[in-house]
Amino acid sequence: MIKRRKKQSFKKNYLISACLVACFVAFYLYASFYSTFFFVYLIFASLFVIGVLLYFYVLFFKKTIHIKLNQQEYLERINLLEADFDKENLFVNSLEKKIESYIQLKDLTEKLNRQFSLKDSCQTLSLEVNRIFPQKDVVVILYLFDQSGDLGIVTSKKNQRETNIKKKKGDMCDKWVVKTLKPLLIEDVKKDFRFDSEVVMQDVSRPVRSLMSVPLLSGKKAIGILRVDSPQSDEFAIGDVRLLMTIGHLGAIALDNAQVYEKIEDLAVRDGLTGLFLRRYLMSRLGQELTRELRRKKGLSFMMVDIDEFKKYNDRFGHVAGDIVLKTIGMILADLFDVPGNLVCRYGGEEFAILLPDCPKDLALKLAKNLCKQIEMQTIILRRKKTEVTVSVGVASFPGDAQLKDELIQKADLALYEAKRKGRNRVCGA
Ligand code: GH3
Ligand code: MG
Ligand code: MG
Repeated sequence: MIKRRKKQSFKKNYLISACLVACFVAFYLYASFYSTFFFVYLIFASLFVIGVLLYFYVLFFKKTIHIKLNQQEYLERINLLEADFDKENLFVNSLEKKIESYIQLKDLTEKLNRQFSLKDSCQTLSLEVNRIFPQKDVVVILYLFDQSGDLGIVTSKKNQRETNIKKKKGDMCDKWVVKTLKPLLIEDVKKDFRFDSEVVMQDVSRPVRSLMSVPLLSGKKAIGILRVDSPQSDEFAIGDVRLLMTIGHLGAIALDNAQVYEKIEDLAVRDGLTGLFLRRYLMSRLGQELTRELRRKKGLSFMMVDIDEFKKYNDRFGHVAGDIVLKTIGMILADLFDVPGNLVCRYGGEEFAILLPDCPKDLALKLAKNLCKQIEMQTIILRRKKTEVTVSVGVASFPGDAQLKDELIQKADLALYEAKRKGRNRVCGA
């Protein structure tokens, strides 16, 4: 904006000139009464003085104009400098914002890098996004696709706390993001032309006026959605969506890595053929469970399961058929016993072990008998022939039969041997 300075008044100069002229006129009149020659000299002298005065006046006038021009030029320069300064200020502000965003992204990356499990990575990501968008009542929702390809909420945060969202599989806005794999910004649900505001409000079933949502992409495949919404309109701008997209890229990499890490971790403790836990994992869990049992005193039982005459089965049908049997038995064991708290594992070869915390021995014996029956009844079709297998089971419990984990395994093993000795396809307790 160009500033205008007050014009300097020249009234004072005119007044001085008028006074001088008046003095001269008065003096001429006075002198003309006394001497005619003096008057002539005086006229010349006065003309000279007037000439000098006029010369100075012109000089002064030129100088004033020059100063005024200079003044205008400086004002112009000041205005240009002020405009430049405003521009620089804007640039500095945007740079400060960028630096702040980079610091937030750096923190997020560092925190995500420290997480290994998928659950912790999801928690960290949603909490950090809530910290980056700290406006009151903003809700951050993280959706991931499950193994069957359905979208589901993994975590949702509001004011840095977990919050409950009714629509567990996402609303129409989330489905739009899944379908297009593009980021979505709705500044005001009521004014957005892409969605019918009433339908959106009904579908969301929460007070939502503005939202932004980005797909979490691993390569070209979407692994989930990261969404931020608010009950206020115009809460987010295009810059926020850009930031959320960058967060989404970083988050997707972290979640992808966590999923791979969990898979590798799973592979390290699970048997490749049956999908059951390995003996190594059982040994580490058994110690912890015995310590817990000492406090809980609810009874802990341990079963050793061995397929009867499996060598003959292998010899008759071949190793590949034997593997199918192992897989089938593994599935039956998982169906019957794989509930939270229990542990079903392939102990080695054709032997399985089942750890049952909170299960007294008499109940374990009943469960083992039921297991024998279930396996006996199961027909396995191999080379178009119906075949059957049976198992023998040894049961021992803690602390009644054994005080230490190795002793518990040994007692169950002895009971299993007893079952074999007594004719197989049966259960024996320690
Ligand atoms: P018992 O009733 O006394 O237990 O007789 P068994 O034949 O089941 O026991 P034995 O210990 O003599 O033989 C176990 C057989 O299990 C030997 C081996 O060929 C077979 N086996 C072990 N691991 C595997 C496997 O991963 N796949 C297949 N197909 N067979 C296996
Ligand atoms: Mg056997
Ligand atoms: Mg065996």
